[in-house]
Order: sequence, then C-alpha cells, then structure tokens
Amino acid sequence: VARFPLEPGATIGVLGGGQLGRMLALAAARLGFDVAILSPEPDACAARVAARAIVADYDDPDALEALSRIAEVVTFEFENVPAKVVARLQGLGVEVAPGPRALAVAQDRVDEKTFLRGCRVPTVDFVAVSKPRDVVAAIDKLGAPALLKTRREGYDGKGQTWIECHADAEAAFARIGGVPAIVEARADFVRELSVIAARGRGGDIRTYPLGENHHEGGVLRRTSAPAAVIAAVTAEAETIAARILTQLDYVGVIGVELFELRGGRLLVNEFAPRVHNSGHWTLDGCEVDQFEQHIRAVAGWPLGPTAPLAHVEMENLLGDDVLRWEALAQEEEARVWLYGKGEARPGRKMGHVNRLRPLDRN
Ligand code: AMP
Repeated sequence: VARFPLEPGATIGVLGGGQLGRMLALAAARLGFDVAILSPEPDACAARVAARAIVADYDDPDALEALSRIAEVVTFEFENVPAKVVARLQGLGVEVAPGPRALAVAQDRVDEKTFLRGCRVPTVDFVAVSKPRDVVAAIDKLGAPALLKTRREGYDGKGQTWIECHADAEAAFARIGGVPAIVEARADFVRELSVIAARGRGGDIRTYPLGENHHEGGVLRRTSAPAAVIAAVTAEAETIAARILTQLDYVGVIGVELFELRGGRLLVNEFAPRVHNSGHWTLDGCEVDQFEQHIRAVAGWPLGPTAPLAHVEMENLLGDDVLRWEALAQEEEARVWLYGKGEARPGRKMGHVNRLRPLDRN
C-alpha cells in the first residue's frame, strides 16, 4: 500500500502513451520519480522518455500485474481506459488517481451532464437517445439545430453530427452509427473557455487562470491565456471546478471546457479527468505547470502555485505544421514542444508552441 507523500525514487504508473503521458513523465522525472508507461503502442512517444514501459493492451492481466508490482500509484493520460482496468488495479492493491468514479462519469456524456446538474453546475439542455424515434422526440423538445453526439468514446469532434431540421433526425442517428447517444441543445456561446484545476490528497484545490480556446474542425487549434475575462467569470469558473472536484473526491488535474454566453454566464460542455490540451500554456506561463501539478497531486505532495508569469498564445502543431520546427526555433518568444511522434498524419497532434509576452497589467 502506497504511503503519501510518495518519496522521490518511487514509480508512478501512467496508462496511455501519448503526448500527455510524455509531458507527465518529464515533469515526474524533474521531481525524482520514475514513470512506467502502459500502452498497447510499441513505440509510444511517452515511453521514450519514461524509465519503464510495458507494451500491452490495457486489460492484459499480466501487464496490470507487472505494473502493480512496480508502481506505487497509477494515473492515466486518456479517459477511455476501460473501467474494469481501474477496478483490477485497485484489486491488486494499487492506488489509482483520479478515482474510478471520475473516469466512469467522464466516459459517458449523459452520465456526465446528469452528474454536473446534480452538483448544481449548468450545462446545455439534453436528452438521452437510443433509437431513431427518440431523436425525433428530442428535436421536438430542444429545437433545431441540435447536436447529436455518441454517449461514449467521442473526442475532438468525432462521433458528432448536427441535426439541422426535424426531418433530418433519423438520418443523423444513422450518421453516428446508431449507437446510444445524446442530443444537446445548441449553446449560443460568444466564446469557448476552459479552466484547469487540481485537487490534492488533502482536499486542497488550486485553479489556473482561464484559457480562451479556438477550435477548427472540432480540434483545439489555439489557446490564449490568461483569457481576458471579468472577475465574476473567473470566480464562477472556480466555483464550478471546485464543485466537480469535491463531488468526485478527485485527486489530480482536471480540464473543464466552458461555453461563455452573452452576459458572462457559463455552461460546462464537458470535463476531462486528466491534464488537458488547453492547459499546455501553463508549461511556460505559470509557476507550476499542469503536468507537475498532476504529479504533485497523485504523489500526495503539496500543490504548487498556479500564478501566471507571462501571457501565452499556445498553438497546436497539427500534422505538417511540425515541419515548421526550424523557423519556430528561431522565434525569440516561442517555446517549442515536440512530441517525438514519427508520422505527421493530417490533424495529428505533433507538438505545440507557446508564444510568450509580458502579462497585461491593469
Ligand atoms: P466536444 O467534443 O463536446 O468537446 O465538442 C467539440 C466542439 O463542438 C466544442 O468545442 C464546441 O465548439 C462544439 N460544441 C459542442 N457541443 C456544443 C453545443 N451543445 N452547442 C454548440 N456547440 C457545441
């Protein structure tokens, strides 16, 4: 059984081998921890900077057994880890953070929104649907256009389709594959914001300044932070994050995606039970970045300060964007982060760049 705070030299397990795992491993190394990556991918970009790597499916019993022998605590870098994997690790006596409830709630859009409303966090109106007729009824209730999303396993705008009119309801259901889904009323937002927050093992909470996010084709393209928002919006976002973290008895970093409505009211779109792409600006813009913060939280260390040191424009390098590395490296204000991925497939997250300027003081 793990004893907290974990001592330097301990091993932290991470399920998932992508760029988030890579940046977690780098942050952990700085604090003297070893990271063991479990990923089905043979040459995962996280594994190449980690002390240990296990290449196996997430539900491979031998792999989980091996991980439980070396890791004091296990966390994850993507949220579609099967819930039974977490249960299995816990059965082997391993501490998993954030816990299974956070993972389960975040894996299902209906459960997620139901949970949010249960903790007095506003969301768009929604209806759960499982057959074409339900979708028609949902449009009657919510109006069109509305957004149909699969309940599970959607990310970066995948598994989603707009329903433009009542007559399109049944065809839309076929477009997403006829699987259990959610119909969401269209949020009439003026901006998309996000708040990255962390909760430690003692229940302490720290929140980062908000980021303003710009998506293209459902994928995050840029984050500008700290976002220019009025104090009431920051306060509301902090309240929302704190409610979610507390209700889930959460340990670690969370990313909460927000819609800002006219007048400053916020709705939660969704939350990710992990470090988040819209928090990459903290790597160069804050005293303690989101990756170190997550490692601190799961290791039972005190959380670090989240104060901003600079204003950051974070730009994702998608696909061929990464070929610009040489020019980016010459930009004086640009901090370049490359993920060491081999193939620059279109839309693939290959790296990001943080462009710094002095904080606006007013
Ligand atoms: P998601 O996969 O839920 O993060 O959605 C991807 C993007 O689709 C969001 O960042 C928004 O730009 C847009 N979106 C999602 N849900 C809604 C909604 N209910 N109304 C309007 N736009 C939405």
